Amino acid sequence: MNNEKIYLDYNSTAPYSPSVESYVRTDFLIDFANPSSEHDAGFELSGRIKEHRKNIANFLGVSTKSLIFTSGATESINTILSLDNLKLNNIDTIISSRMEHHATLHQLGYLSKFGFHIKFVKNNEQGELDLDDLENILKLSQNSLVSLLYVNNETGVINDVKNIVRISKQNKALVHLDAVQALGKTPFDLEDIDCDYASFSGHKIGSFKGIGLLYSKNISKLAPLLHGGAQERGYRPGTLNYPAIASLALAVKDIDLLNVELLITQRKKFEEDLLRIHSEFSINCQNAKRVYNTINLNVGKFDARALMLKLSRNNIMVSTGSACNGSSQEPSHVIQEIKKSDHINSIRISVKSFELDFSTLFDLLKSEVCN
Ligand code: PLP
Repeated sequence: MNNEKIYLDYNSTAPYSPSVESYVRTDFLIDFANPSSEHDAGFELSGRIKEHRKNIANFLGVSTKSLIFTSGATESINTILSLDNLKLNNIDTIISSRMEHHATLHQLGYLSKFGFHIKFVKNNEQGELDLDDLENILKLSQNSLVSLLYVNNETGVINDVKNIVRISKQNKALVHLDAVQALGKTPFDLEDIDCDYASFSGHKIGSFKGIGLLYSKNISKLAPLLHGGAQERGYRPGTLNYPAIASLALAVKDIDLLNVELLITQRKKFEEDLLRIHSEFSINCQNAKRVYNTINLNVGKFDARALMLKLSRNNIMVSTGSACNGSSQEPSHVIQEIKKSDHINSIRISVKSFELDFSTLFDLLKSEVCN
């Protein structure tokens, strides 16, 4: 992508973080050895993987042995929600939400064919989960795993994960958090949250694509999805992708959330400016607790896709939903669920910071809707 483009689609993927960019320019080409090889080049990289794992574990507030490198969050989620892992943990009911990412929802659809009970927690019009409903479902279920997003990728709504875990534990259920969109966007300590499992993706914070993490508090309670070599203690066999692992550790190192309160204030101001463009505009989930970087703009009677394409032709990249829908023009299932409507017209703007010059974005939106 050339430098003239204004990239506002960070929830889809992020550009390489500064340390990752510098790694690509320096050591990337010489770090090709297999970290499992029993020679100096292999030892060198396996030693560095140990360091990278330690740094990531320190950042997340967990032990190194609880972290497994995977190819991304889709794989982490599919491993946690796999037939083998559910069987190992004696799970027959999965409690989730209709606002989950497709990596979860489509795996739940698959599990339902094998007789698993899939139950969905209610949500309100702000995209917030009804925790009383969660508690009621848990009371009527046994052998349950609760699998929920930490932060919604389309709306930025932050789920009340501490209470989700508390209620689940009281009812003897395990908890998995899809924490992809929380990493780098809101401060947290995983050990303090006390979930059993969590999934992370590197490319959302500026690492290479195809690298992610699976956190399992009690690693002996994890069944592998793949079977092969002894890499990752057998929990995730396959030759370790050293450059991708290094890029993940470097992208984590580059996370800076010191000014998150200021960023949230800047998001609110940015949203007020958007709302001033036209009375038809509104912000989805405006009153919910949300991460600083995500704005889901409902454009009312205007055609969101046409607006998105107009912005794209003018070098501004936003989205109309989750990129995993590929080229399909299906409206967002998340916003449909929140609005209880099939007619969805919204644009997702997801940023790194508010330091950019947004005047072209505002001018283009105004020219399209105010004529
Ligand atoms: N979960 C959420 C909330 C996401 O936003 C994504 C990425 O779109 C995923 C899971 C899947 O992550 P990955 O691309 O690493 O498979």
